[in-house]
Amino acid sequence: MKEKQLIIKSKILANKFIIADGHIDLPHRLKKAGYLNKDDVLDITKDTDGDFDYKKSKKGGLDAPFMSIYIPAEFQESSKEKKLADSLIDMVIKITESFPDKFALANNPSEIKHNFSKGLISLPMGIENGAAIENKLENIDYFFNRGIRYMTLTHGKDNAICDSSYDSTKTWNGLSPFGKKVISKMNSVGMMIDVSHITDETFYQVIEISKTPVIASHSSPRKFTPGFERNMSDDMIIKLAESNGLILINFGSKFVNELSNKKISKIDRKVENWIKKNKINDINKINKFKNKIIKEEKPFANVEDVINAIDHVVNLVGIDYVGFGSDFDGLGNTLPYNLKSVADYPNIILGLLKKNYSEEDIEKICYKNLFRTWNEILGYSSN
Ligand SMILES: [Zn+2]
Repeated sequence: MKEKQLIIKSKILANKFIIADGHIDLPHRLKKAGYLNKDDVLDITKDTDGDFDYKKSKKGGLDAPFMSIYIPAEFQESSKEKKLADSLIDMVIKITESFPDKFALANNPSEIKHNFSKGLISLPMGIENGAAIENKLENIDYFFNRGIRYMTLTHGKDNAICDSSYDSTKTWNGLSPFGKKVISKMNSVGMMIDVSHITDETFYQVIEISKTPVIASHSSPRKFTPGFERNMSDDMIIKLAESNGLILINFGSKFVNELSNKKISKIDRKVENWIKKNKINDINKINKFKNKIIKEEKPFANVEDVINAIDHVVNLVGIDYVGFGSDFDGLGNTLPYNLKSVADYPNIILGLLKKNYSEEDIEKICYKNLFRTWNEILGYSSN
């Protein structure tokens, strides 16, 4: 097929198949914009300057983005973690109530299919950072009842559950004694366990203990970013696949390209030093400074790097264990070329078509793999 025909086909497939995404940071973006605990919500049915909104979703064929209920590490042990999670969940619910002809909540794959048949975009939810449960197992039931379907065990720092790949302290050398109970509780409730952000030791302990498959909601293969523990080694991807789970690929430049990874780390260090030196705490000033450096340094990967990440997983463990976990709205202007927003999923599909992926394969990557694992985990809880 000629390039032009392939482009048309990629758009047709993006519309034809449900596209699910394991991780989009819209709630955090709305929080930063001042919409937490407010009566109104940002009108995301209009054009916005974020990576995700209704029009961009329709253009890109996105149907079921997991909304990340993100608890920053600085909230840990503040006794406000659960309250923050509740307020972010309230915001997602408010979006569906404000625009009922465009968005709907979804608790499982069949509800997403039902919403899709009515042309609605589903907003399933996952908690990013198990600190949200404030050390109480019963809060896992509580959040499941509020619609949370996965929980990332920690974020940028070690917490009461386990160690973080971004932390160097290795508080628990993996899971804490409480963390082991969290895994069993999540299994019995039917909440997906998300292994993004945890250390390798934690990962292997989770895989050992969990009775259900586990997912990585927004990680990429470490092969392309050697030494970056936030991504997954080939051995970990194999173990994940053996559990019948899957890796949802993070689109971030620093996740899929070694040079971008180094450049972005350098930018982060530069910004940190600048903040310390000048004692700045105004987030707008910090973002302005950071965006200026990003513009100068251009640390961007290409959409091809994301396609290569997907292809690597497929070559390693087969077609059944990979999907999308973009991290849109969470990457701060460092997305790859030709993959700048949710309007650009067809560019990934185009790359897969060029690599001779069949429609059936692409359908698995778009949603079927995630739905299979998710249904198995829900099924375990009802046994
Ligand atoms: Zn994250």
